Amino acid sequence: MKIKLLVLSTSLSNLVVWGQTPKLTGNIDINLINGQITCDFTLTNLPKLDDPAISLNRGFNIKDLKFNNSSIDYNIDWGFPGRTAFLGEGIGIIPNVDTILPSSKISISYTGAFPTYNSKEEIASGDGMSVIAIKNNILRASHQTLWYPILVDRTSNFTISKYEYEINVICKDCESIYLGGTEPVNARKGNFKTTEPNDIMLYVGKYKFKKNKNTFFLNSKLDNVQTDILNSSLDSIKSFYTQILQANYSQPTVLAQIFTIGPKTQYEKWAFVVYPCIVADLNELPRQVNKVTNKISDINTFRIYSHELAHNFFGLKIKADNDYWGFYSESFAEYLSLKAIEKFYGKEEYIKFLNQRYLSVYALAKQYTPLTHIKSDIGTDHLYNYYPMLLIGLEQTIGQQRIFQLLAYLVNNTKATNLSIDTLKKSASDIGVTIEEWNSFESNYIRSSNCLTLVKSKL
Ligand SMILES: [Zn+2]
Repeated sequence: MKIKLLVLSTSLSNLVVWGQTPKLTGNIDINLINGQITCDFTLTNLPKLDDPAISLNRGFNIKDLKFNNSSIDYNIDWGFPGRTAFLGEGIGIIPNVDTILPSSKISISYTGAFPTYNSKEEIASGDGMSVIAIKNNILRASHQTLWYPILVDRTSNFTISKYEYEINVICKDCESIYLGGTEPVNARKGNFKTTEPNDIMLYVGKYKFKKNKNTFFLNSKLDNVQTDILNSSLDSIKSFYTQILQANYSQPTVLAQIFTIGPKTQYEKWAFVVYPCIVADLNELPRQVNKVTNKISDINTFRIYSHELAHNFFGLKIKADNDYWGFYSESFAEYLSLKAIEKFYGKEEYIKFLNQRYLSVYALAKQYTPLTHIKSDIGTDHLYNYYPMLLIGLEQTIGQQRIFQLLAYLVNNTKATNLSIDTLKKSASDIGVTIEEWNSFESNYIRSSNCLTLVKSKL
């Protein structure tokens, strides 16, 4: 089954640089009947930003923009900005100021009605993580929709999408409100607060939710036995990663039912994550959890959830702001999900899955772009299928114990975002991989235009 996994956040914020967390406070008023969203936000605790831009969804109209309490003029930049993929969905509001200082305060109020649709030519990308979707009295909007303001330093492309926040939500037709970073509530309005910086997911409307131990289930039809199985499966995956990576999860997992507003054929199956919320087709899970074994019976479904849970570390803690973003986010998350499959389904099932999904006759005959020549538009086949096999190749070269050590080292020591192959090489050397071992990995796997036959022969 072909699975389209949308990319995780590629936000580039590096929150420790200036030692204070950007803060967003204000109000959002949502009307599910006419789709109108009205926001009034203030941004404080900001780092110094030169040539600043505020990126917002194209469906919003600005009512007022204030800088240090005074209304200021602004221009719109459609082409803004070139480098960061998800901001491409937005529009740049360029305030008439040269620099934002840590003491600066920006207030912005705006309104818009959703969903908005792209032109017919672009309809293939008409639904995804960057779309503010409203359907059947539910609204879903990830941070990539730019429903709240995202700040950019246009001299460096440094981007802020994660905020600590205090937001009043009013949604008079809602039954439940979920704002990423806080727990869902059964209410039509609420004051939501967190001091932990978050990319903010919004999932509100006429739906019910339930909690089973460490997992929330939004808008799902799962019964208690099914939520028990899912909660314990997700917990086992999280404990496995925690043990390998020596790093923790800080929030309960939230699972929310996905819905599409794109063409039926757009995706056979898709999911996305805005940590700690995984938005996926929960309605198909009853067929995939086994009440006899108490496990997820479908390995591919297990893979999707373990892939998304791995993004807590690869994608969120470690992220590249260059062409390697997908390698350090998607390929590492995929590799970890395969290790979870090996752990929970056994070696035989793991090898069978690898052979079917990544090492098919078709894949073995293809020509791939070596990791040394990665490009920004490298595509999902490389990121989700081929480069994870390079990491299996690294495991075949240095052994599982040391690759786990290497992953833990990366998670706990990587602060920079300008990552490359050298980042991996240097970290490998730091944990004791010899130069001979690295050179062997590099020539046999990295520089090869197809290392899959080698990977397969060494399984
Ligand atoms: Zn992913």
